Amino acid sequence: VPVPRASCEAVAARAAAPTHARQGTEDAIGHDRYCAEGGYALLRDCMSGARDVESVIRTLEDSGLRGLGGAGFPAGRKWRIVRAEPGPRLMAVNIDEGEPGTFKDRVLLERDPHRFLEGMLIAAWAVGVERVYIYLRDEYHGCRALLEQELANLKANPPVAGMPEIELRRGAGAYICGEESAMIESIEGKRGMPRLRPPYVAQVGLFGRPTLEHNFETLYWVRELIEKGGAWFASHGRNGRHGLRSFSVSGRVKQPGVKLAPAGITIRELIDEYCGGMQEGHTFYAYLPGGASGGILPATMGDIPLDFDTLQPYGCFIGSAAVMVLSDHDTAVDAARNMMRFFKHESCGQCTPCRNGTAKASALIEQPRWDVDLLADLSAVMRDASICGLGQAAPNPIDCVVKYFPDELA
Ligand code: SF4
Repeated sequence: VPVPRASCEAVAARAAAPTHARQGTEDAIGHDRYCAEGGYALLRDCMSGARDVESVIRTLEDSGLRGLGGAGFPAGRKWRIVRAEPGPRLMAVNIDEGEPGTFKDRVLLERDPHRFLEGMLIAAWAVGVERVYIYLRDEYHGCRALLEQELANLKANPPVAGMPEIELRRGAGAYICGEESAMIESIEGKRGMPRLRPPYVAQVGLFGRPTLEHNFETLYWVRELIEKGGAWFASHGRNGRHGLRSFSVSGRVKQPGVKLAPAGITIRELIDEYCGGMQEGHTFYAYLPGGASGGILPATMGDIPLDFDTLQPYGCFIGSAAVMVLSDHDTAVDAARNMMRFFKHESCGQCTPCRNGTAKASALIEQPRWDVDLLADLSAVMRDASICGLGQAAPNPIDCVVKYFPDELA
């Protein structure tokens, strides 16, 4: 009996089921089922010469797929840049999913690990990678057991000859190791601290070699994109935006979870159409569009398309699409305090503007009255002088409270 091939959309739909209806890694699509449903045929086509690298990269470019870990760099362009560098080339896969509110990678990995692995191997083939390092968040114990098992199955039954070596590495619970250059330091066995750039990891990455670095979800989409064509992915979207996004929705909604929705959907549409509305007794008050770092916006600004680049004019960003919904039972001030405690704790301590700035900002906003002038100065220094995105984006929640929630401060 032919088994219908599970698509990314079908898997995401299952992921969106209520928590009590899910079974963790137990309902993962294992190696045998994945292969029986047509898995690894595309990889075989690629590696046997039935598909050429140029056409695969062009499909990726046509789709508009961007890095879904948060940075949003165009995936096809990244493949070209690393491919143009001299070998040997390496690859680092980031599954150190630590942005508060983000859980999409875990949910997708728990259900269809081989879809990700096939995408990863196609990327490695297209770029000419010799060795792949998968960096997995240490707290994801179930995912680690599943990946170890499925990597062993893949090694025992290689779909095609000539695959690169794959090494699974554990993180150690540091948020900063989700930053690509800190992750690379950690894989090299050093303390996970971001590097100054340039040089970029595409040129000088792991062990000094040109490195293709990708988030889990970016690779998860590769197979379906190439099979269905770039236009298929780009045909989704709303409000002038293109593609699909896996939103990790949490907070005061009736049905939180991973929601596969069109890029450019607004928060109001996301709550009403995908999350069953607000919880009983709660009125939509504010939202965090991109985890801890992406800022806070009031409900009155709930009609902004959620996508890369659309939130920057408001001092916010979508990042890894972790959307947290606050109600009239919450305050933006409390949310900002919570986020700043987090940044203070997770600052790696390498540079003064972030190490001292997060501590100082946290202390200032714990006060009943905010010194907004002093906070504005501090925020400017942190943005301008911090080495990496943690310190540069840490003031976002504070700046948003000052700009959009003046009543709370009064
Ligand atoms: Fe470390 Fe913060 Fe400086 Fe980034 S900005 S290097 S996290 S101290």
